[in-house]
Amino acid sequence: MVAVCGLFLAGQAPPPAPESHARGTLRLHYVQKPIGEERYELAREGEGYRLTSDFEFTDRGGRVPLAATLRTAADFTPTYFQTKGKSYRFVNVDSEVRVDGGTAIVRDRGSESHVPVRTPFFTVDGYAPFAAQMLLLRYWKQHGQPRTVVTVPGTPTHDVIIEPRGREAVRAGGQVVTLDRYLVDGVVWGRETLWLDQDGSLAAAITRAGGLSFEAVRDDLEPLLVGFVERATRDRIADLEAITRANRPLRAGTYAMVGGTVIDGTGRPPIRRGVVIVRDGRIAEVGGRDEVTIPPEVARVPIDGWTLMPGLWDMHTHVTQIEWAPVYLAAGVTTVRDMGNEIEFIVPLRDSIASGRALGPRLLLAGLVDGGGPNAFGVVYAAGADEAKKVVAKYHDLGFQQIKIYSLVAPPVVEAICDEAHRLGMTVTGHVPTGMTIEQAVASGMDHIAHLPIRGEADSDEVRRTIAFLREHKTVVDPTQSWNELLGHALGTPIADFQPGIAKIPPPLNRLFSSAGSDGDAAAARTRLERTLRIVKALHDAGVPIVAGTDEGIPGHSLHREIELYVDAGLTPMEALQAATIVPARAMKLDAELGTIERGKRADMIVLNMNPLERIENIRGVRWTIVDGRVYDSRALWKSVRFTP
Ligand SMILES: [Zn+2]
Repeated sequence: MVAVCGLFLAGQAPPPAPESHARGTLRLHYVQKPIGEERYELAREGEGYRLTSDFEFTDRGGRVPLAATLRTAADFTPTYFQTKGKSYRFVNVDSEVRVDGGTAIVRDRGSESHVPVRTPFFTVDGYAPFAAQMLLLRYWKQHGQPRTVVTVPGTPTHDVIIEPRGREAVRAGGQVVTLDRYLVDGVVWGRETLWLDQDGSLAAAITRAGGLSFEAVRDDLEPLLVGFVERATRDRIADLEAITRANRPLRAGTYAMVGGTVIDGTGRPPIRRGVVIVRDGRIAEVGGRDEVTIPPEVARVPIDGWTLMPGLWDMHTHVTQIEWAPVYLAAGVTTVRDMGNEIEFIVPLRDSIASGRALGPRLLLAGLVDGGGPNAFGVVYAAGADEAKKVVAKYHDLGFQQIKIYSLVAPPVVEAICDEAHRLGMTVTGHVPTGMTIEQAVASGMDHIAHLPIRGEADSDEVRRTIAFLREHKTVVDPTQSWNELLGHALGTPIADFQPGIAKIPPPLNRLFSSAGSDGDAAAARTRLERTLRIVKALHDAGVPIVAGTDEGIPGHSLHREIELYVDAGLTPMEALQAATIVPARAMKLDAELGTIERGKRADMIVLNMNPLERIENIRGVRWTIVDGRVYDSRALWKSVRFTP
C-alpha cells in the first residue's frame, strides 16, 4: 500500500538542471473519478523549449478535448502559445498568443488585440493543460520566485499569486519521491495546489473545473490521489482560517440593532423602526422601538434607513473551494446545502466552520451517490440494496443531513437508499434517475427533487397532474432557474443584462462564463425561461415548497438572481424572500432554530442598504451579514477573495 507520508524533509535541494526533453502522462480525475489523460512532451527547440499537450476527458458521456502548444526561451519566457478545444463541457477555448517584445498579440475566440505585458508574465488560459501550469512554475523559479505573475490571454492586470507551500516525501512503487508543493491563485478563481518533483516535472495538481474538484496525477503516482486531496485540503482550510483572523467580526456577543426596518420573514408586515437584541448568538428580543426595552448595558448599533432580514439560504451548491465561504457571507447567505462534493474536503471544511475557527455559512451536506459505470459521476456508487445501505450509513456517520441521488442509480436502488436514509432520520434529494419519471422517483421515497425536471406548459393536464402529485407527497423542489438562465441565455445577450454581479467577479471567472450561453436568439431563450417560471409559479400556488438554489453559477450573485426570478415568475417579494429563508429551513427541519427573526432563534440575519420588499433587486445591497450573532462586513469579505464589492 502506498500512501502520502506527509513527511517534511529539512534542508534545501540544489535547483534542478532543466531536462533537455521530457514526456509525461497525467491521469485526469473529476471529483476523484478517473476520466481521461493529458499527455505532454517538452522538447528543446533552438535555444528554448517547445511544449505540446494533448488533454482529453469524458465527463458523464461528454467529450472534452484540448490541444495546446507553448514555445519559450531558454529561461521559460513564453514566445508563442496556442490552445484550442474545451476545458469543460460548456467552456470553449480558442486562443493564440505571439509575444513580440513587451507586446502580446492575442487572438482570442476570433478577435485580435495587441496587449502590453509587464514582466513577469506567462501565457496560460485556465487550468488546462496542466503542463502549461508546470512551465509557469518553472518560469517563476527561473525568475527569482516573484510573488505575482500576470498572464495572457485574459486580463493581463490580474495577478496570479504563487507561493511555495512545503516539501514532502511520498512513497510510490517502493521508492520515496520528494515533491515541492505550491499554491497558485489566479489562473482559475481561487487557490490551486501543484506538486513538482525534483526534476521540475508536474507530479500532481488539485484545481476545479465547472465548479467541481478536478485532479491531475502523474500516472505512477495515481494511487496517491486521495492523499494529495487531503494535503491540499489542509492548506486550503489553513488559508480560510487565516482569512478569518484577518476579518474579525465587527461585533459579537450582546448588542441591539436599533432603528432599521425589520422584515422578520414570517410573512408579517415589516416593523418600520425596529429593534433586535442579540445575546450570545441568539435573538433575545424583536419588536418596535417603543415596545422593546434595551437594557442600559447593551450596546446599540444604529441601523436607521437600513433593512434587517433573516440570512439567506442557497439550497443547491457545491462548496469545492474555500473561497465560497467568504463569498456566501458577503452575499448574505448564512446557510447552504452542499449537493455533492468530495468527502475529504467538505467534512473538514464544515467542521472548521462549525467550530468557529473558520468563517462561513452553515454547511448542510447531501452525500452524492451514483449507480456506477463509465458515465457515473463521482466515486460513491450503489449498484444494489446492500451497497445502498452501506453508502447511506457512511454518510450518516459523517453527519450528512441528506443523500443526493444522481442520474444513474437504478430504480430499485433508489427505493433502498430512501428506506435506509429515512430509517436513519435523513432525507433524500437529487436528480430523477434515468429511466424513471418524477412521480416514480417521489413514489420511491425521494423527499426533494433538484432542478426542475418538468417539461411542457404549466396549464397542461399532464403538468397539472404532476404538480398535484408533488403537493400530495409534500415534495420540495429547488428549481435552479438562475443556472438555467445563465447557461441558456442567447450568446448575443450580455450576461450583465440580467446579472449585474458579472461585473464584480474576478477575471478568471468572468472569462469562464463569457463563453457560456446558447446559440439562438434572445426571444427564444426568454420564452424557454418564462415557460419554466410559469411551472415554478404553478408549483408554488399549489403549495409545493420552492427552495432557492443556484448550482453555484455566479458565486453569491446567482442566489440574488434566483430570488429575482421568483418575483418574475409571479411570487410576491415576501414569498420570494421566504423561498430563500424559512421555506428551506422547514424543508431541512431546522425552522425551530433558523429561517426567521424570532425570539430564541439563532441570530442569522443580514443588513441591507434598502428594503427588498419595495424592489427585489435591493437584495443585492448586503451591508453586513450576521451569522450566529457575529457581524461581518460584506465589502471586506468580497475583497478577501478578489471580488469587487
Ligand atoms: Zn449541482
